Amino acid sequence: MVFVSTRGDADLVTSAYAINRGLANDGGLFVPTEFPQFTLEEIAAMKKMSYQERAVFVLKQFLTDYTEEELRDCVNKAYTEEKFGKNPVPLVQVGKNTGVLELWHGPTSAFKDMALQLLPHLLLNAKKKTGELHKVVILVATSGDTGKAALEGFADVPGTEIMVFYPSEGVSDIQKRQMTTQVGDNVKVFGIEGNFDDAQRGVKEIFSNKILAKSLADKGFVFSSANSINWGRLVPQIVYYFSAYVEALEAKKIKLGEAINFVVPTGNFGDILAGYYAKLMGLPVNRLLCASNSNNILTDFINTGVYDKRREFFKTVSPSMDILVSSNLERLLYHVSNEDASKVAGYMAKLNSEGIYEVDRAALAKIRSEFFGAWVDEFETKETIGRIYKEHGYVLDTHTAVAWRALEKYRYLPDDPDTYSIVLSTASPFKFADSVLSAIEEREVSADNPFDLLRELKEKTGMAIPSRMAALEDAPVLHKSVVEAKKMELTVIGNLG
Ligand SMILES: *Cc1c(COP(=O)(O)O)cnc(C)c1O
Repeated sequence: MVFVSTRGDADLVTSAYAINRGLANDGGLFVPTEFPQFTLEEIAAMKKMSYQERAVFVLKQFLTDYTEEELRDCVNKAYTEEKFGKNPVPLVQVGKNTGVLELWHGPTSAFKDMALQLLPHLLLNAKKKTGELHKVVILVATSGDTGKAALEGFADVPGTEIMVFYPSEGVSDIQKRQMTTQVGDNVKVFGIEGNFDDAQRGVKEIFSNKILAKSLADKGFVFSSANSINWGRLVPQIVYYFSAYVEALEAKKIKLGEAINFVVPTGNFGDILAGYYAKLMGLPVNRLLCASNSNNILTDFINTGVYDKRREFFKTVSPSMDILVSSNLERLLYHVSNEDASKVAGYMAKLNSEGIYEVDRAALAKIRSEFFGAWVDEFETKETIGRIYKEHGYVLDTHTAVAWRALEKYRYLPDDPDTYSIVLSTASPFKFADSVLSAIEEREVSADNPFDLLRELKEKTGMAIPSRMAALEDAPVLHKSVVEAKKMELTVIGNLG
């Protein structure tokens, strides 16, 4: 299995190379040149496997330059019972025809752990395989959850350093505390004055600065990415789509071969793209529902084929989806444009220079046959959390609520009201306790100490506060710097080593 850039660099690379580098030399993203196929029998056979075994089964299709032994070792180190509990990814039935796939039982209480607990192990192997002698510097732009999950994954991993940039006013109290208290000899965390797109742009600029790369290589450093532009972030996410399907089979909610919907609260388009990849591998998927908050650029795109980032940026109660430039869409564009990299490069150049591009009709038709886009405003998000709690006693976090409401909107349409659908739940409600509590109690809530709200939410719902989150209350704040978005590069240079 080999990988190629979405923008036309003709080099074919191994998965170890793609994972080590993160981004292709021409600024494109690495994509597989083919998709391995699973038969229904092979999918059914996953019923008997543990989550860890399912992961190895899927990973080995793509990471053919890793031995099965290596993959098993990586997976077993990542998805331990200590970190993820007995069942890492439970599928909870909530109401008629709907399952909620809880992806947040990892150490940082967000779905990002599913990939970021595994990525460091894949990367260490990749370094060996590619003969990489440089220290790998992981640069991360985060809208809140990636940062902590990457820090947790890479802290004290030998041969690596990690630097995280988050919008200093754009993350929840708990998210900020999770990052600023991070321990580890190789970690640095910075707030920036700006939003996630500013952070992501800064990181991409640093990646594509060839002169900087050369001078750092001379000093023994090479950059890589823990954002979902890295192939090593995407491939672990394919696993849980198969796992969810198999769990629905086990629960007798569906029959083998029955196509189902997945509903994905979307920001950078990584999670939902993994679902598309699962479908390309033979998973019976009807529609992929792309749910957005008020930053509804993807809904507009799926409906019109026009991607227009020249619009107001909203800070919402689902901050991990407050994104206007969804990096992984580039991969989808590549697949729906018959792998025409020059087309993709053209779209990306237009996005850069004019802030807008429009895909051709054939590509749009393909996208619309696979995806449905819906967006959900702030009021609807909170209303949904309150209503689902009342009706089902189930607590949705703000991001998952956006997905739930998007599914309701899809089901209002006549075409497909009854298909079994799985909502991907991407964060623990405790991470956004203020919004969740105010939605459930239908009143404004505030507290000087955000941990008081965790306790209130626990008392109200009977759910247990994730222990690592509770422990943050007494953890010392170690990272206080806030830098201008323009100064990210200087900050990186000044803090290496
Ligand atoms: C990152 C994140 C998302 C968006 O996922 P993408 O892969 O960026 O589309 C949704 N919800 C939560 C809680 C997240 O942390």
